[in-house]
Formats: sequence, structure tokens, C-alpha cells
Amino acid sequence: MMAAVRPVIVAGNWKMHTTPGDAGALARSIAALIEEPAVTRVICPPFVALAAVGQALRGTGVEVGAQDVHHEVGGPFTGEISAPMLQGLATWVICGHSERRRDACETDERIGRKVARAIEHGLRPILAVGERLEEREAGQAEAVVRKQLAGALETAEIEASERLVIAYEPVWAIGTGRTAHGSHAAAMADLIRATLGVLGWGSDAARVPVLYGGSVTAASIGEFLSEPALDGALVGGASLKPEEMAGIVARAALTARAREEAVAGMRRSA
Ligand code: PEP
Repeated sequence: MMAAVRPVIVAGNWKMHTTPGDAGALARSIAALIEEPAVTRVICPPFVALAAVGQALRGTGVEVGAQDVHHEVGGPFTGEISAPMLQGLATWVICGHSERRRDACETDERIGRKVARAIEHGLRPILAVGERLEEREAGQAEAVVRKQLAGALETAEIEASERLVIAYEPVWAIGTGRTAHGSHAAAMADLIRATLGVLGWGSDAARVPVLYGGSVTAASIGEFLSEPALDGALVGGASLKPEEMAGIVARAALTARAREEAVAGMRRSA
């Protein structure tokens, strides 16, 4: 049996930046610099800019993602956005970003329900997990990530899905300019897949893409993509800068092409 060959993914999280008026132009200027079909490229603007960004990216191969989704499909939830509402606007969605865990008090159980709603409605969820600095310093990083995965995926009874992507984002590295070491992030990716195995995903665990997130730039992406366990990046601040995204995606394309060549080689010798 051939080993799992995972796609290389670069997803940009614009957070609470841009307006419907300026997001389309920014998306267009980024898309023009990241024409690398070997890499799955995603831009996640604020909800109100999804339509403008979708229109700007039409025909470019760059996909659109939302930054959150509600755990119910509809009802009395003022100000919320459900998975059915995202149909036609987004094909990806970030679930459980640490800024939402912190500011919206999102629990693992609720995040799991978001992931489940996303999968049910044809979206690709990027489930974000990662420890806070005090948890890392207390030697609890691995236990925290295991608990976040189990709390989300087990309680929502999410079966192995080809759509799920996981982003390992140590909270202390988000927006701080401080990155984890590539080897540390890769060890966490191994732990994430091992945890999925324990949660009943069996051999499907090896197929789940794991991204690194936390102050990734064009200068630092190479450290992560030289680790075979890592499949790309969830990029915050740098995703608003076209030149940075160009550098990140260009480096990701090297890894994607190397993986394609490895598969072709395996097929030739099979
Ligand atoms: C993020 O928002 O997911 C993120 C990783 O942000 P930054 O790249 O700015 O650290």
C-alpha cells in the first residue's frame, strides 16, 4: 500500500482586517502573486468581505474560507453565521481559533459541533489547536492538544472525514513574531495524528493535513515545510501582505512538487 500523500495548503487568516470596499483589490493582488496550482491556497477574510473576495478570486484557483461558523444550522442566535449561510460564499472555515477560544469563550465541545456542521455542509474545517505559554512552561503542551482534539472530535462524534484539516497553533506564537521550532511543530503534528488514531481514525489519521500557524513569514516557512509531518501553514499577519504570501506560497510549491515527484517515482517503481 502506498503511504498517504497529503496536499500542501497555505491558508491566510485576515482576522478583523479589510472592509467589503478594499478586500477585493487586496485579494486580487495576492492571487496574482500566488499562481501555484500545486499548492492549495485559501484566503479567509471577515464575513462581510466573503462575497467581494469570492468575486475577486473567481478563476484564480485561490479558494475562500470563513473565520468561524455557528454550531447550529439556524435559530435564535443574534449576530451569528451558520454553515448553510456560507454556501456559495466559502468552501473552507476556521474552527476553534485561539482568539475565539479566548474572546468568545469557545469550548472544545462547541468547537467540535462547529466542525461537524462544517463537514455536514460540504465545508472544509481547519480545526485550530495549541497550548498557551503557561501551559507550555508547565510541560502540559501535549496534554492540552490531546484534550482539545478529543474534546472536539469525540464529543461531536465526527467520523474520519477527508475534509478535516488541523492547524497546530501554539498561542504564544500567534501575532508575537515568535515561532515554534520546526522540529517541535513536527512532533506536535505526529502527536495530533497519533491522537486521531486513538480516537478511532485508524489509518485515515495519516491522511489528515496538519498545518503550522504562529508568526509564519516568507523567511520562516522553510523551517516548517522541510518537516515531512507538516503540510503547510495557517498565516495571520503576513497573509495581508502580497509579497509575504508570494514568498510563502513559492516555498510551499517546492514541497508540493517534491511530493508529486515522489508519488510519480513510487508509481513507476510499483
Ligand atoms: C493566525 O491568526 O492563525 C496566526 C497564525 O496569526 P499570525 O501568523 O499573525 O501569528
